[in-house]
Amino acid sequence: MALFKKMDNIEDDQNQEQLNGEVEKVKVLIIGSGPAGYTAAIYAARANLKPVMYEGMEPGGQLTTTTDVENYPGYPQGIQGPNMMEEFKQQAERFGTDVRFGLATAADLSQRPYTVTIDDKKQIQADALIIATGASAKYLGLESEDKFKGMGVSACATCDGFFYKNQDVAVVGGGDSAAEEALYLAGICNKVYMIHRRDQLRASQIMQERVFQTENIEILWNSETKEVLGDQDGVTGVRLKKNSGEEYDINVTGFFLAIGHKPNSDIFQGYLEMDDTGYIKTEPGSTHTNLEGVFACGDVQDSIYRQAVTAAGSGCKAALDAERYLSKKEFEAKKAAEKEKAEK
Ligand code: NDP
Repeated sequence: MALFKKMDNIEDDQNQEQLNGEVEKVKVLIIGSGPAGYTAAIYAARANLKPVMYEGMEPGGQLTTTTDVENYPGYPQGIQGPNMMEEFKQQAERFGTDVRFGLATAADLSQRPYTVTIDDKKQIQADALIIATGASAKYLGLESEDKFKGMGVSACATCDGFFYKNQDVAVVGGGDSAAEEALYLAGICNKVYMIHRRDQLRASQIMQERVFQTENIEILWNSETKEVLGDQDGVTGVRLKKNSGEEYDINVTGFFLAIGHKPNSDIFQGYLEMDDTGYIKTEPGSTHTNLEGVFACGDVQDSIYRQAVTAAGSGCKAALDAERYLSKKEFEAKKAAEKEKAEK
């Protein structure tokens, strides 16, 4: 806090007067609570930056919707995604991170300190902002899919699979997520159809092999979803179209999407440079965005690797980048104050 006052005291007071409602000032604000956000929090807290973190809509991030995480170093037997995120959170809190429930609903990055609105009401002003908002599941965009959301249509097998015990279900996609969801559902459901638009899976070799070896998974190759079928009780089937043009129906009660993700960067549009999909651009080898004092880490800036371990690594970098930025600013403010004093 002391640093903040030294740097921008006059400007801050003006800002505060202009803003209606509750305004809180913090040194470091972290938005998002996946591996990137929590790791940034651990590093920022240990650097005594007293980070405040808002967890977002899905506390713990995407890993809370997964089952076994087998590829995160340090867990030789694997660990459940939600448990791992709980441990990340405890570690962040142990060093003093103020972890809060709330969603960043707007941002004003036109001037420093940067202002982020939480849940459409509370405003937080931050000297440094770490964006770790991750990415969200994509849907096909069909009207029928929307109609049956929560009534058989889901983007999270581990959350909702249990409801389809011993029933027939479908998973759309051919990547690692689709393979993982299909394998998970195969352990609960009677039959799992994997609907894939090509004749080859995108999933890693090991996941493909597991899918091929699972008896109750059937892959429907070269097929696209035309419509989700249903009645007042929910999903009853799916109408598919083969690349040849032939249409056919399958009977399922659950329809699971696993076709990738969209970065959660909408509130920063117009301020931060992004690619066509909305992934925030960072300077190569760092987490610096095009705005000084704004750092991005994890899946919101990574369209390539998107792994828990790479997200955690970039969260560490974001905290280190923020710490160096704040130290530099503090040093500059001190020098400016000394010069002003000498000139008087
Ligand atoms: P991917 O982008 O890898 O795969 C998306 C899949 O959905 C592709 O097969 C794609 O088809 C298909 N698809 C995309 N859009 C549509 C559409 N409109 N209609 C029909 N099908 C569509 O995303 P994932 O979420 O699977 O994986 C993301 C990253 O996370 C990857 O790097 C993956 O390796 C990683 N991951 C790792 C896991 C693990 O290690 N346990 C688990 C889950 C993910 P097409 O192939 O034709 O493009």
